[in-house]
Amino acid sequence: MVGLRSLRILLLSTPVGPLGSGLGGGVELTLQNIAKILQAQGHQIAIAAPAGSIYPGFAVVEIPGHPQPTAQSAGRDALITLPENSVLGNLWEYAWRVQADYDLLLNFAYDWLPFYLTPFFQTVVAHLVSMGSLTDAMDEIIDRVARQFPGTIGVHSAAQAATFTFAEHCRVLGNGLDLSLYEFCSTPEPYLGWVGRLAPEKGLEDAVIVAEKTGIPLKIWGVMPDVPYWHDICDQYPDAPIAYEGFLPTAELQRALGRCQALLMTPHWVEAFGNVAIEALACGVPVIAYRRGGPAEIVSHGKTGWLVEPGSIEGLVEAVHRRSEINRFTCRAEAEAKYSLTAMGDRLEEWFRYLLPSIQSRP
Ligand code: UDP
Repeated sequence: MVGLRSLRILLLSTPVGPLGSGLGGGVELTLQNIAKILQAQGHQIAIAAPAGSIYPGFAVVEIPGHPQPTAQSAGRDALITLPENSVLGNLWEYAWRVQADYDLLLNFAYDWLPFYLTPFFQTVVAHLVSMGSLTDAMDEIIDRVARQFPGTIGVHSAAQAATFTFAEHCRVLGNGLDLSLYEFCSTPEPYLGWVGRLAPEKGLEDAVIVAEKTGIPLKIWGVMPDVPYWHDICDQYPDAPIAYEGFLPTAELQRALGRCQALLMTPHWVEAFGNVAIEALACGVPVIAYRRGGPAEIVSHGKTGWLVEPGSIEGLVEAVHRRSEINRFTCRAEAEAKYSLTAMGDRLEEWFRYLLPSIQSRP
């Protein structure tokens, strides 16, 4: 494939929290990986992100202001809100001021403002939408941009796109990892893993019930934005063999995750992708997930894990009993074949070539 000429691209991060805090969920890792591969492909990458963001090796423009509340559990008719001195507003004011320095602005925020502002920019704005349909107001504004600026809406999975009215206008990009950072582990220890934000839409309680029913210890990693949610689970299932291990940076997370016999993914929503699924596979860890959303596209049933009817605890328990039927080498091989950073980079370049038809390919 002929590469694009070097593009100047500004990545605008999520306003939910600083890069490295974990509050932004999978978006943080996704943005970091995309920055890394685009830079390796020869593009000039700048990142604008909330103050306190850390990403060694990249110049991060730190934008002050109050974080955006999370959208996940707001309800379909939730109104658009912004705090006073909003970091989201400040990020996009910054983008407005510097737009002439860039060929492309890439939005990672699942927020109304960047979509609303899109027609007012001279520089092309592309959006990488990180969640499925959540609220009517967000659906309406993304729909409007999708129709007015065809091709500018990127998503991670077909299942995610299908939650929107504008599914056919979405570009499915999947995701990719720097696989060199994930070590293959062939000799797991006797525990299961669960990784993600400890929040209701992630359905941690289902995995805890599985631990209780099977007696197999469950280790849990992730940020805890909703402490009462965690305490409720502990109160409800006092005998479940579970341990909360905190939020770890990628280098430590992959080491711990690699030792799991299987990863349980039990979301109660349509998971747009599920970075943790491909992180597990990269370490050789089978994934046991509900057959819905991104994980259902990532996990190959019977080959790299087991897909279970959403909400079926019995199904999860049965899959846990069959975890050793999955070959851990196959899991790693699948990650290498489908989720490398270079494959993701190629898909992104193809997208940018479509978005910027006047950009010349490299000679
Ligand atoms: N994560 C992490 N350390 C932890 C637990 C989780 O860095 O201790 C990261 C993980 O690498 C992944 C993200 O949290 O990138 C969760 O993303 P996912 O796409 O699975 O779900 P989301 O939070 O976006 O809904």
